[in-house]
Amino acid sequence: MEFCGVSFMRDLTNLQKTAALHEARWWEPEANGKVHCYLCPRHCHIGEGQAGFCFIRANQGGRLYSLGYAHPAALQIDPVEKKPLNHFLPGTRVFSMGTAGCNMGCFFCQNWDISKSRADQVRSSHVPPEDVVALAIDNGCPSIAFTYNEPTIWGEYVIDICRVAREYGLKTVMVSNGYITREAFHDVYDHIDAANIDLKAFTESFYGRITLTHLQPVLDTLQWLKNETNVWFEITNLMIPGLNDAPSETRALVDWVLEHLGPDVPLHFTAFHPDFKLRDRAATPPETLHAARAIALEAGLHYVYEGNIYSDGGNTSCPSCKTLLIRRSWHDVRKNSLKNGCCPNCGLPIPGRWASTGAHTAGMRIAKDRVGAGERHGDLNL
Ligand code: SF4
Repeated sequence: MEFCGVSFMRDLTNLQKTAALHEARWWEPEANGKVHCYLCPRHCHIGEGQAGFCFIRANQGGRLYSLGYAHPAALQIDPVEKKPLNHFLPGTRVFSMGTAGCNMGCFFCQNWDISKSRADQVRSSHVPPEDVVALAIDNGCPSIAFTYNEPTIWGEYVIDICRVAREYGLKTVMVSNGYITREAFHDVYDHIDAANIDLKAFTESFYGRITLTHLQPVLDTLQWLKNETNVWFEITNLMIPGLNDAPSETRALVDWVLEHLGPDVPLHFTAFHPDFKLRDRAATPPETLHAARAIALEAGLHYVYEGNIYSDGGNTSCPSCKTLLIRRSWHDVRKNSLKNGCCPNCGLPIPGRWASTGAHTAGMRIAKDRVGAGERHGDLNL
């Protein structure tokens, strides 16, 4: 699949604020000057002067270039609970960034202004990996999240940021739709500390009609994460009235998680609000999330959350003695009673990554190296 034309490539090239385009990974040349991108399961075959489905991987002169490299369209500081991650450095700030473009075509996209807009290239700045890490440390963030749009499609930039982040003791987070090929999976996730993967539904018809992709590759990614990495990961299921909220579908999704990933993977049921091409649907009623959470807990999942609403379903409790461990209000942590990652009442270890190390010392080291990063990039949201 390929999109756009020669003028598109010329425009984007002009909008890059560096002297040279960054050559991509995960591609091979084809006949007639085309290239095959195998970073995600779309497997775009891209003609000269054209871009793939995601907008930000383009063929120039028979080579594939990453137009998102070092060109974020959004830089912000969020609570880590907003990703959502409830078992990863709770109560901390995460330096969050995204570029233009996406490899899915979700009608309900809640970040469509950057994921579907080539124009966001105009608002991007040139921010090399070292400056991303310096900005994160300057702003007191022990971790960096690749989020807002799909970070898989700018995997080259993700990897280079991770290399610098690890050097300075910062953690890294993928907030992803899980749509990545086997060939690229370890190249990216071997550098990552935590992930939230959207499992947008549990039917192929939803994935095909509403996201323009397929379900099975996402399930494959979840199993690779579980069986082949040490990445801490949680799952989000955005519930859309009438499209993916049937109790039978929720039960099937939960049963799959239990069988293939186990009971300790946190599952977040979150509320949809009308957006992008799905403005004719009502927002998800809280009762839908309550019912889904009850199904998952009854089936045997240990950590099930409700998101995008005010609810006690955002709290973490011990699955053994039911002691309240972490009390949250929306994305705020109001109380954290964990003791060394364990329940203070019965001592049960609670799965997750609870402590951060290194960022303070790293901050002092990097400050000497990268003085001025904050001044160069000004307001974070570009
Ligand atoms: S990453 Fe982009 S260009 Fe590559 S296969 Fe996926 S959608 Fe196509």
